[in-house]
Amino acid sequence: MTGATQKIPTMCPMNCHPTLCGMVAEVEDGKLVKITGNKDHPDSQGFLCVRGQAAAEIIGNPKRVLKPMVRDRRNDASWREVDWDQALDFITSRLRIAGRERTAIWGGHGILANNYGLASSGQLLARFANLYGCQSWVPAMICWGMGGFGLGLTGALEVNTKEDISANSNLIIMWGANFHSQPNTTRHVRAAQKRGAKLVTIDVRRTEVAAQSDDVFLLKPGSDAALALAMMHVIIAEDLADADFIAQHTIGFTELRDHVADLTPEWAATETGIPADRITALAHDYANSQPAAIIMGGSSIHKGANAWQSARAISCLPALVGGYGVAGSGLGERHGARAHGAGFQSITADDQRKPGTYVPSQMSEITESLDDGRVKALLLFGSNFISSFADATRVAGALDKLDLVVCHDLFMNETARRHADVVLPATAWLEDVGCKATHTHVYLAEKVLEAEGEARPVQDVVRDLANRLDVDDVYPWSSQEEMLDTVLDHPGTGYATIADLRKNGGMAPMNVSHVAYPTHAFATPSGKIEFYSERARSVGLPPLPSHSDIVTDGDAYPLALGTGRTLTQFHAFYDHGQALPLLAKRDPGGILWLSPSDAMARGLGDGDAIRIFNHRGGFDAKAHVTDQIPSGVVWMRDGVAGLNNVTSGDKVLPDNALDFFYFTVGSAKFAANVEVTKG
Ligand code: SF4
Repeated sequence: MTGATQKIPTMCPMNCHPTLCGMVAEVEDGKLVKITGNKDHPDSQGFLCVRGQAAAEIIGNPKRVLKPMVRDRRNDASWREVDWDQALDFITSRLRIAGRERTAIWGGHGILANNYGLASSGQLLARFANLYGCQSWVPAMICWGMGGFGLGLTGALEVNTKEDISANSNLIIMWGANFHSQPNTTRHVRAAQKRGAKLVTIDVRRTEVAAQSDDVFLLKPGSDAALALAMMHVIIAEDLADADFIAQHTIGFTELRDHVADLTPEWAATETGIPADRITALAHDYANSQPAAIIMGGSSIHKGANAWQSARAISCLPALVGGYGVAGSGLGERHGARAHGAGFQSITADDQRKPGTYVPSQMSEITESLDDGRVKALLLFGSNFISSFADATRVAGALDKLDLVVCHDLFMNETARRHADVVLPATAWLEDVGCKATHTHVYLAEKVLEAEGEARPVQDVVRDLANRLDVDDVYPWSSQEEMLDTVLDHPGTGYATIADLRKNGGMAPMNVSHVAYPTHAFATPSGKIEFYSERARSVGLPPLPSHSDIVTDGDAYPLALGTGRTLTQFHAFYDHGQALPLLAKRDPGGILWLSPSDAMARGLGDGDAIRIFNHRGGFDAKAHVTDQIPSGVVWMRDGVAGLNNVTSGDKVLPDNALDFFYFTVGSAKFAANVEVTKG
């Protein structure tokens, strides 16, 4: 016992990208004694929200899984502890029976706790899947993938940084975005406001950022594209567009002009619920306040049948006013995006994918493949699968049919309890070296502690499985540092290495532009912003930005369900937060926002226990009666246990559109209309 305290810079294990906060871990005699925010961290500057503070409770937590466990029947009583060899032998024997094409591997957000941005763990799972020849699907489908599809069709995947917006924007539109999902953007928006910039919020409810905004527009869930199209109508009709930019850097303007000619603010008023004169005023404000930035939400806005069309239509607005490639304009930071120049080396070995019959990265078809026997074994890493996938009741039924479900995680979760045959203990973020990246920096996530119990990191498990299955070259590196160096070996990182990061306080600026598309070279087939997308047309989708009628679940379920983020939970992390006492106390379960009129019509009061349901399923929560949400709309944070029992697992985009971009787009609708009664 030396009693000396070491202060080691590291990163928060949550993945609130674009916010990733720096931490300092204080360690004495190999034990964690304290976690604080890192004041020297350029992105977070000492900020650490309650979730980051609660992360300390992962270490030494009595609920943590510390040994491999196997059971012969799927009931809680039959778990028995085994050693790693026994667990891996058990898994391997079942995988051999299933065969490689009937085996699937899926990594959730949890595997990125110390490598978000580089996604080295996700890449390793993909590498294993390619070299082994098993099923593997791209996880952006449970998150921002469908919005990315809309943005990508336009040619607008890059973003301006928060620092650029802070310094240069005259107007900032938070479109389905909230400070709770990207807290480190807050100080930059406030700095812009101090300079005199105007802040506008567009959302389905009055969020925390709405309270600080100069203007708030509440729209019906799924109607964002209608609002953007009507704004385009006004900008074109009143000659507020940037003709030079349009001529030089876009295609399809004539078709767009004709297309939006009838999409008036009066038309959009019916679709969105926002009065026509306010839509016109918003369009004027946007066109006349350049440079003006639109910050889109990270996940929830990209879920819903119309979500890709929303992103597509919104991303056409900056092009109309000449905003791409301009400081303070274009689109601001969002989850999953990259700044211009950012990038990492791929280690996925896609070119060595073993030939096979593969289920596409299309959520509806994945569920079907679990149900119809095309998949018999499922290896889950850092994922509470039934909390992530839409139409969870159907997914759960399909998981029941599998011959093997393996969960590698920190804690038991709903999927592990109900469906797993094997649970493997995973290392926590402080127990393994990692590296994370924001839009502007790479950060070392140093190994601070030895692993608790028999926990092992993803790479050890994957490597051991590969060895047992005779799959070569899955982990050709001599250490995790060497693997991370391989991923960092890219001009976007300035060819950073773990050794250099260690020498330089654990961080390095990335070689990026704070302004997206500085050379006006857009990653579309034409190289220009595409108001008209031939790619979309080629797969049977509308080639021009469009709004589709909002499809509901029928008159029996009149309330449109919106979802989003709070500061007290992150998806379903840590067994829906209930494994960490601080989060469990702050946020013990689902809270549904509903308007006073909707509550009164159902005889509900604030705090009442309620049942939320539709024809797909239901779940229990508590009512939060508030005038901060319009009647007809209800809202809940994502990740609540049971929430996806009510969401739609129907496909949105055709299979032949899935491979347009490096991320996949096979998200389900995730939309839901519900009814609420006393629970
Ligand atoms: S916002 Fe909170 S949870 Fe997210 S990275 Fe920062 S400290 Fe962690």
